[in-house]
Amino acid sequence: MAEEKFISDIRDYSEKYNIGELLEKAEKADGEELMTYLFAAVCIAAEKGLNQVPFDEQLSAARALTEGRIIEMPTGEGKTLCGVFAAAWHKLKGEKTHILTFNDYLAERDRSWMKPVYDLLGIETAFIAEKSTLDERKAAYRAEVLYVSARECCFDYLRDFTAQTSEEESGQSFEAAIVDEADSLLIDEARIPMVVAGETEAVYDPELEEVSDYVKTLDEADYEISLEAESVFLTDEGAAKTEEHYNIDNIYDEENGGLLSKINDCLKAWFFLQEDKDYISRDGKILLIDKFTGRTAENRHYPGTLQTAVELKHGLRTTTRGIVMGSIALQYFVRKYKSLAAMTGTAEASKEEFFQIYNLQLEKIPPHLPSQRVDHDLEIYYDTESKWNGVAKAVLQAHEKNQPVLIGTGSIAQSETLYELLREKGLEAAVLNAKNDKQEAEIISNAGMPGAVTISTNMAGRGVDIKLGGSDEARREEAVSAGGLLVISTYMPESSRIVRQLLGRSGRQGDRGESRRFVALDEPVMEKYKLTSLLPHSHIPQPTNKVIEDKVLLREVERIQRISEGDCFDARARLMKFTMIGEKHRDQIFSARARILESGRSELWSGAENYAEALDRFGGEKLSGLEQKTAVAAINKFWSDYLEYTEELRRGIHLVEVGGKSPSEEYNISAEEYYQGMEEDLKDYMGEKLNELLEKGEEGYTIDAPKNIHTYLLEDTGDELNKMPLLLNIFDEEEEAKPLPKAPSVLDAPEEKPAKEKKGFWFFKKKQ
Ligand code: ADP
Ligand code: MG
Repeated sequence: MAEEKFISDIRDYSEKYNIGELLEKAEKADGEELMTYLFAAVCIAAEKGLNQVPFDEQLSAARALTEGRIIEMPTGEGKTLCGVFAAAWHKLKGEKTHILTFNDYLAERDRSWMKPVYDLLGIETAFIAEKSTLDERKAAYRAEVLYVSARECCFDYLRDFTAQTSEEESGQSFEAAIVDEADSLLIDEARIPMVVAGETEAVYDPELEEVSDYVKTLDEADYEISLEAESVFLTDEGAAKTEEHYNIDNIYDEENGGLLSKINDCLKAWFFLQEDKDYISRDGKILLIDKFTGRTAENRHYPGTLQTAVELKHGLRTTTRGIVMGSIALQYFVRKYKSLAAMTGTAEASKEEFFQIYNLQLEKIPPHLPSQRVDHDLEIYYDTESKWNGVAKAVLQAHEKNQPVLIGTGSIAQSETLYELLREKGLEAAVLNAKNDKQEAEIISNAGMPGAVTISTNMAGRGVDIKLGGSDEARREEAVSAGGLLVISTYMPESSRIVRQLLGRSGRQGDRGESRRFVALDEPVMEKYKLTSLLPHSHIPQPTNKVIEDKVLLREVERIQRISEGDCFDARARLMKFTMIGEKHRDQIFSARARILESGRSELWSGAENYAEALDRFGGEKLSGLEQKTAVAAINKFWSDYLEYTEELRRGIHLVEVGGKSPSEEYNISAEEYYQGMEEDLKDYMGEKLNELLEKGEEGYTIDAPKNIHTYLLEDTGDELNKMPLLLNIFDEEEEAKPLPKAPSVLDAPEEKPAKEKKGFWFFKKKQ
């Protein structure tokens, strides 16, 4: 009822008043009243600017967005416009909105598409794409409403962490976000780490070279390999030999600690780490092999001098070293926003996950006109080959009667298989692989042309509307009488959501349409869940190349889909618990760094003994400039080490289970200890740098800031993360549903002089 009144009031007001009057009224009002006036203004703007009167469903959806929900609204129902209402509402509340899109193409398209509406409302808009320059980005982040792909927005966040001065920062803030295509961004792609990397100079150490040459000559009796600790030690014999070689009394004396650690690294390099098993040597570089995936890992290297020791073993001397400077997955990134809402065509199957991980409640919006799509039963084939033949037959049948067909596949390779198969039968299809978003948008927008055959991966052509008849209105009837768009799903993905997303492409806005789904019993999901073990003996299918009709089989196949859906969620939730602590640390250090850039203060030098001397010599301005540069570079260095350390920790932590301890608990304790230690180390390091400055003077002083900053996606990690040891729940149930504590804003003022009475530094403290 309330909804009906809300909508009829909006309609009334948009008849009675003009935009200016409505905005004025909205500004004075609040709550429901504010929204009613404001939405009425947006309705007028949409009518004037787009020649579209927003549907009732769009108004309900828009309201749900302002309430921080996820709306499920079928494809083609006009979610883009819904976002405008919510963004306008945030603007009135004084909050900036980021509309996080699926790709760059959609960011630009949606912004220019909706711009006339925003202009009429007096709201500044902007978009960002990969090609945008830093200045363009800075301007865009100042706009009231920004359209940007989730990926670019994340990359800006990561790049800000590498800025040397505040002018190099993007100036982004995290107020309100509306995530479009949320099923994909917040679930399917949510865990892919986005990475910022750079290069640092490798320090050359002549002593290490000598140690390496010496260690190489040791005999088997001189060292002992500990497989469990993954390290190599000197035996008593080896120690005696070494003491003689270096002419020292006791290698284990504290004063020989530096030498001993070099010896240990060289022992490990020579006698433990194996080429082609642990690492490969390529193009003058040592690349680590990931134990889980078997692939070489980009920008990863052994800690400290061990990497150099391995390089020496192979006679290499590198001058630069790639380092990972920061990384974040979307799952955590979106939690930075004060308010979060989302929209998608399919959320139902992942309802629980949206709620538990993002605290987003689902609001299902019915289609404006009921769909007339006819969905056929799942067609089951014995093996993949006969399945593809079945698919090809279905395509040809439809094509004969001029019906447009869209086929969804699981991968680029599958798309190509089908393309070839159809070609052999004399049919030329269009193939989309999510390689060129703009070009593909054009192809897919014409997938509804009579006789069109389009093959697409699940990712390609997202967000683009498929109109019957394509861009040619005149051919619409032709496509309708051929049965509307036929969509064909050709495999069983881990989640049924992906199938539904595809089916939703047909029957939009009350259109006619049809769908068929194909699956083979030898597909990965079937094998993974051992379909045959679930079936009663008499229903185990026999080899055939025809479609298998068996109700029991059908039921079990669909059940597998549900099992796999649940499993995926579990894996994601598990990972989340594991990385929670890392998220906390990252939030802390990222904002600490940003605050140093902002304020030019770090307190890392001002507390030092010889600070007065330095102040005298270099002057306040110069000194604080150097302090700032040194501090931000140092934070990068220490954070990079932290990332390396925790990654190693994650890989090794399953060993802890042996001792009967909870691996996640152990992980958290170790990560926390490392982080705390890092604060202390940072202080010491900064002290050393101040001494260096005093010794060498400004000319001889160096700050090792990473160069060649670049960003990328770590797409390979998916299965690796799934293989992670099962972690025990360390958060109680209640705590789990809560979002992470908010990161302090870059604008947070330092707390009242806490450095003296509290452990650590103000810039590490989180504001409560
Ligand atoms: P979705 O994102 O939900 O898939 P889009 O925002 O891409 O949908 O819109 C799909 C189509 O519907 C577009 O062509 C758009 O112009 C049209 N549309 C949206 N809202 C309306 C409306 N109120 N009246 C008429 N057409 C509309
Ligand atoms: Mg859309």
